[in-house]
Amino acid sequence: MNYQNTLAFAQEQDQQDPLNHFKKRFYAPQINKQDAIYFCGNSLGLQPKSAQAYIDHEMQKWADLAVEGHFKGENPWFNYHQLLTESAAHVVGAKPVEVVIMNQLTVNLHLMLVSFYRPQGKRFKVIMEGGAFPSDQYALETQTRFHGYNPEEAIIEIFPREGEYTLRTEDILKTINDHADELALVLMGGINYYTGQVYDMEAITKAGHQAGAVVGFDLAHAAGNIPVKLHDWDVDFAVWCTYKYLNSGPGGTSGVFVHERHANNPDLPRFAGWWGHDASSRFQMKKGFIPMVGAEGWQLSNAQILPLAVHRASLELFEEAGMENLRAKSEKLTGYLEYLIDDVHADKDVLEMITPRDPKARGCQISMLVKKDARLLFDKLMEAGIIVDYREPNVIRVAPTPLYNSFEEVYRFSEILHQCLQAH
Ligand SMILES: *Cc1c(COP(=O)(O)O)cnc(C)c1O
Repeated sequence: MNYQNTLAFAQEQDQQDPLNHFKKRFYAPQINKQDAIYFCGNSLGLQPKSAQAYIDHEMQKWADLAVEGHFKGENPWFNYHQLLTESAAHVVGAKPVEVVIMNQLTVNLHLMLVSFYRPQGKRFKVIMEGGAFPSDQYALETQTRFHGYNPEEAIIEIFPREGEYTLRTEDILKTINDHADELALVLMGGINYYTGQVYDMEAITKAGHQAGAVVGFDLAHAAGNIPVKLHDWDVDFAVWCTYKYLNSGPGGTSGVFVHERHANNPDLPRFAGWWGHDASSRFQMKKGFIPMVGAEGWQLSNAQILPLAVHRASLELFEEAGMENLRAKSEKLTGYLEYLIDDVHADKDVLEMITPRDPKARGCQISMLVKKDARLLFDKLMEAGIIVDYREPNVIRVAPTPLYNSFEEVYRFSEILHQCLQAH
C-alpha cells in the first residue's frame, strides 16, 4: 500500500474503512478531559457501550428471580455459557463442541496441562518460547515439578539467535525435531506478548505431532487480534483471556479449546467439578464423574454470569465485524503505523522496531525498543494524551486495534511521537 504522511490521507482511509463505525460503540478513556488515543488493547481492551445493559439484565434477573434464575426467565444461568460458544468458536476457528468460556487464563492453562502434559518414561520434556509471559513460565515450572521433574531439565526454551529479537520458524521446528524422542509437549504463545511476533501455529503443530508430542497454544495475544484456525491446524488445546483484544473487562473470563478428537475421551485425566458433569444427571448429585462431551467437560464451577455477560456483549461486536474483515483493516492500520514511525524517525538513533516487518508475522502490535530514556519517552507520550504501554527494561508497545482505532489516531500519534523525539 502507498501510505502518505498527511492528515488528509489518514482521514481518507477512515472514510473508506467499512469498520469505522465501531469506534462509537466503545467508551474512550480521558486524559486532560479529552479522548485519549488508546493503543493499549493488547493489555486491557476498551469497554463496549453495550456491556452495561448485559450486566444490568442479569442483575435484574437476580433481583426478580433469585435462585429461580438458574432455570427460569430469559437465558437461564444453567446454560448461560452456551450463549457465547458459537461466537467464541468463530474467533478461534473452532467447532462449538471444542470451546468453552470459563474461569481465567492461568487457571485454564493449569487445567489443560493436567490433561495434556502427561510425561512418560523419557518423554517428559516441554518446549516453550524463551521469555514467555511469566504466568506461562510459572505454570510450566510448577507443573513439571508437580510430576517430579526438575524444570531446568524438563523445560526447553527457544531463544532468538544472537543479535535478533524474534524466533525463526526453522529454529522452532529444528528444536522440536532435535528433541523428538523426549518431547511430551510443545506449548507456545500464538503471538509473543513482548515482540508481537506471530508464530506459525500450523507448522509448529505439525512438527510437534510428528515428534509424538501434544501441542497447545496460549492465545492471550492472538484471540481477537488475528484469525486463527485451531481446528484445521489440528491443535490439541488452547487457552486465551478475554480482557485484551476481546474487550471483556478487567480480570474477565477466559476461553478454552480442546480439539474434537479429544472430545469424547472420558479417560483423559482431568481435575473435575460438578459443572463439567453430564448436564442431564448433574442435579442427581451422585457419585461418579461423567464428563460432558467436548470442552465443556472441563468446567469446574457454576458459571460466573457477570463476566460472561460482558463477554457476550463483546463477542456480538466480533460477530458483526468478522475476524477476516478486522484482519484486513489491521494489516493496513499497523502498516501505516510502521510507515509513520519510520518516517518521523528516519535517522533511527533512538528507536528500533523489534516486531517483525512482515505483516503476516505480526498482529496489530508494534514493539519499539527505546535506546535512550525509554521511561521518559513513555511518560511524555502519556502526557500528550496517548496511552501505550511500557515494558521493562526499555520497550514501548503500541497496539492500534482494528475494532476501535482509526488511521487518524495513528497519524496523530506519529505527530506527537515526532515532537517527543525531537526533544529527546
Ligand atoms: C496476559 C497474559 C496472561 C495473563 O494471565 P491471567 O491468568 O489472565 O492473569 C498469561 N499469559 C499470557 C501469554 C498473557 O499474554
